Parts: sequence; C-alpha cells; structure tokens
Amino acid sequence: MRPNNLHCYWCGNPATSYDHIPPKGFYSTKLRNNLIKVPSCMEHNSGFHCLDERMRFYVQAVAENSVGEAAFADATLRGLLKPEAPGLLKKILVSMRPALADGQLGVCSSVQAGDVEKFSERLARGLHFWHYKTFLKGKISLANTHIVHPNVDVRPAIVALEEMVPNLKTGDITNDQVFRYWYGKTVESNGEGFLLKAVFYESVGFYVMSVEVDEHPI
Ligand SMILES: [Zn+2]
Repeated sequence: MRPNNLHCYWCGNPATSYDHIPPKGFYSTKLRNNLIKVPSCMEHNSGFHCLDERMRFYVQAVAENSVGEAAFADATLRGLLKPEAPGLLKKILVSMRPALADGQLGVCSSVQAGDVEKFSERLARGLHFWHYKTFLKGKISLANTHIVHPNVDVRPAIVALEEMVPNLKTGDITNDQVFRYWYGKTVESNGEGFLLKAVFYESVGFYVMSVEVDEHPI
C-alpha cells in the first residue's frame, strides 16, 4: 500500500510505503495482526532490512521467554541456512568468542557497531510519530538490558530510567509476549524529553531517551 500525501516518520521526505515498528520479522507469521505502521521513505524502510535481520538474531538469541526462544529456533536460525543468508551468518560467526558467564563457558557474539543505536533510534522515532504525529527531535541516548558495551556499565542508568517508567503511558500492545512498550514526555533540567521503554520477548529491554535542549534558557 502506498501512502498518499504522507511524509516519512524519520526524515519528512514523501513516503513511499509503510514501515512496521518494531519490524514485523520479530513476530511469527501468525502473530502479525494489527502491527504498528508508520509512513516511511525508501531509505528509512527497506534501507533497514539488514539491520533488522541482525538485531532480530541478537535479540532473540538472548530472549528469555518461550515465544522468543521458539522464534529463534524455528525461523531465525532456519533463515540463516537459506542461500541468501551467508553474509549475515559470516558476520555473526566471525564475531563469536568464548566467554565465561556465571562460571559456565559459553559463546559471546559482538553486535555490529552502531546497530543497537540505530535500531533503538528507529523504535523511538517510529513510536513517537505513531503517538504524536510529530518528528522526534533532540539528542538521543540509550541503554539496553542485554546487549551491552564492554566498557560501559549501564545498570545505574537503567535503575534511574526505570524509576521514571511508572509515569509513562502504556503503549499499544499487539502481542505482549513479543513486544510491549511505555512512552511519554518528560521534563529535564535542560529541556523537554521523550522516554521510551521497549521490551522484546518479556526480557530484552531497550531504553531510549531524547532531550530537546532549550537553546535559550531563562
Ligand atoms: Zn525517510
């Protein structure tokens, strides 16, 4: 379906299609009713296809509910065996390293630089546009419960952000075992903010905050 006279949720250029927020690949085919869609240009829809595939792999790989585990085993891993998949498979395998977690030897895989940031920004821009019909402005910062930066401890930030979540609105839930979110405007010392908490598979949390800095404070 082609949107008429609509503008891309990200850049404001004429929209050529609708983009699912979050990407519909996170839902199994039988759970794809009433998903959230926003108008988007070519660059900000199909341009994210590879990013979506990588993030689906990483999020499902660490997901802790049965829906996420089943999606990973049934669809995502199977998809990696398709002829068109070697690029993604190679990137993931090359980044795997042995790692100790809770005394057990396992494997850790490095997420491609910039992926979590871009994906988080997309969730925030898409859901902001969905609810307010305006573009998200300001500087974006983020934290993730499972996909972590090796040199940054985000736990204190997550504790602080979590204290703000009761003040947020509950998002439009289409299947809370796959995805749910909370959103709202916040008042920061340096300007107006927007906070999003998004959770995939009841376990993998993305916190995205955007603050539109007041350039002329009184
Ligand atoms: Zn765009």
